[in-house]
Amino acid sequence: MTASRTARPRFGSGSHLIIDNCAIITGDGHSHFPLGYLEIKDGHISEIGSGRYEHAPPDEAILFDAQGAMTLPGVINAHAHGCMSGPLMPSGSISSRDHDIEYQKNRHLLGGTTTLLNVCGFSLSRSRAERTHPIDVRWTSAHTPASKAAALAVDGTGLLAEHLSASITTAIEQGAVGLGEGGGGQTLGGGAQDYKFIPAAILKHTGVSLDAHTAGRLKNMLFGRDLMGKDRAPWSDFVTLCEQLGLVETHDAHSIAAVMSSTVLPSVGKALKGLEELAHWSSKTGLPALLHTAAPSARAVVDLAQKYPEACLIAAHCNHPSFTPQESVQLATELKSLGVAIEACTLDTITTRWRNSADNLDALVNAGLVDILSTDYAGGHWDGLLEAIHRIVRLGQMAMAEAVALATGNVARLFPDFADRGQLTIGKRADVVIADSRNLGRVRHVLIGGKIVVRDGIVVG
Ligand SMILES: [Zn+2]
Repeated sequence: MTASRTARPRFGSGSHLIIDNCAIITGDGHSHFPLGYLEIKDGHISEIGSGRYEHAPPDEAILFDAQGAMTLPGVINAHAHGCMSGPLMPSGSISSRDHDIEYQKNRHLLGGTTTLLNVCGFSLSRSRAERTHPIDVRWTSAHTPASKAAALAVDGTGLLAEHLSASITTAIEQGAVGLGEGGGGQTLGGGAQDYKFIPAAILKHTGVSLDAHTAGRLKNMLFGRDLMGKDRAPWSDFVTLCEQLGLVETHDAHSIAAVMSSTVLPSVGKALKGLEELAHWSSKTGLPALLHTAAPSARAVVDLAQKYPEACLIAAHCNHPSFTPQESVQLATELKSLGVAIEACTLDTITTRWRNSADNLDALVNAGLVDILSTDYAGGHWDGLLEAIHRIVRLGQMAMAEAVALATGNVARLFPDFADRGQLTIGKRADVVIADSRNLGRVRHVLIGGKIVVRDGIVVG
């Protein structure tokens, strides 16, 4: 190697790149080379080795000295929202604005995500007006009758005729790579009811603004954590809280309860039926189906795993805040024994810690139950996957190679369309993250298909 080449400070855009002097985690769950090199040709990994790159690089190759940084596969986030235009969330709400979509995609990419699955469920394909972006955004379908009815029961303002008339078959023809999200916090009385729909309904009815914590508290007092009365508070406690919040100065507590019932409950039965439609379609098509898993839907997900053993089911966010840590572990253990993949989500539990704590996530990780790690949305306050992986490693819950696989190799194994990525092995697409070896959450460079798309922390693709 020549002095001028090794001194080259930056990536070029050539099709033959050698990343030397790096630590490597391959994404298979156990391989971790403390010192190695990675060779990329025509967008794919062509060689991987331990130790320094000792050969004379070919003339056309660019040799990049990573100075001991960590290289790992580009992250695959199998559960995100708001990253493409079209109906937002399983509530079929009005589309996010273009610059909000751009911001979401930039946040994911700068955190090391190279492939992202937008699981809102009713979009059909990306709008032509949407700006091109280097992150590889894929999407899922929940175009089933009951899922549409659930969306319309809670919102549905983003559903156009084309979304309402589309079927799972249409969506797969147009490029959907998975099914879901079956149900959601909007349609199954979860977080989105707390931060969006309940506060809006109460504000309209009483003129009083509620924050998400308070809305969630009222909801749990009235309906219980599973919407079926589990740990429900006595009616007198609900009335007392309504009085403290100033909700009953002009209205009585029964009218507050009626408003909350008409906001939370009409979509629930329809959303549960929608879960079954997706399990059925998963068994028919072989595509993975992501099912919203929370206290109100937990039994339904178990029943479907028994009824459709040939379906590829992913139990979304088994660390949902409607569970206690013990319930999370019991449910995930039962689902895993039935062949269901266990997803945990960062939500806002890692650094934001606004509404949700990491207790359920920790319980699942410590019990060795998590198959894949995703972000979900958490009202837009989601925390990054590599931040979460750094935390898992620092807490000594997993070795780094095992933790990285939760958001790379393990996800690729579940989705047929991601078989070409998710590991740094010969022949795979060169989706590569170069990050601080002491803190994987600190991402410096990102390549997608061998092309540099984040350089020194700035999106350049
Ligand atoms: Zn979700």
